[in-house]
Amino acid sequence: MRSLSDIAALEVKGFLAEDEGRRLYDLAREASALGPCLEIGSYCGKSSLYLGLGCKERGQVLFSIDHHRGSEEQQPGQEYYDPELFDARTGRIDTFRLFRATLDKAGLEETVVPVVSTSAVVARSWATPLGLVFIDGSHAIESVFIDYCAWSSHIMPGGFLAIHDIFPDPKDGGQAPYLIYQKAVGSGLFRELPRVNTLGILKRRKPGDLE
Ligand code: MG
Repeated sequence: MRSLSDIAALEVKGFLAEDEGRRLYDLAREASALGPCLEIGSYCGKSSLYLGLGCKERGQVLFSIDHHRGSEEQQPGQEYYDPELFDARTGRIDTFRLFRATLDKAGLEETVVPVVSTSAVVARSWATPLGLVFIDGSHAIESVFIDYCAWSSHIMPGGFLAIHDIFPDPKDGGQAPYLIYQKAVGSGLFRELPRVNTLGILKRRKPGDLE
């Protein structure tokens, strides 16, 4: 994979719109000047392609956290269940196989570092400052709050916090990601940047940055 236009050809499963992906690519490229990037919620690797390409171009890495057992709504019988992701041997969802295949096809195995765990467990011993954090994991309110509280403090001044599935109108979708987005804005630590589709983007203020 050499460019953004190659990503669509890989036909990776996922819930990320193309305009959101392209914006993530731009953000990852810019953030990579500061430090590594990190995403929560790898699924089959669609967002990892955009973020990873941006990181790769700057010689940076993307840590991609997911337990790969599927979120609540992806379990058998639920709205977003996909039989192709069901592992009959274990009787559980397993998205890691497809995620790994995505990285392989895209030539990103030296750029994207899979972390197979929950974000809360990884966060307990994380100490590396980050250029960007992208939150796109479980939409359960407790999980989203853990993701925000555990990771936003690692974002370097000038770095980015991106949050997927922002729906200001409850009629359009679940409110948990929007709630932490508002919490981040209310903290005063971040400046809002224009939203792209459902992708909320915040930039961590630098000391003395009051705009
Ligand atoms: Mg999402």
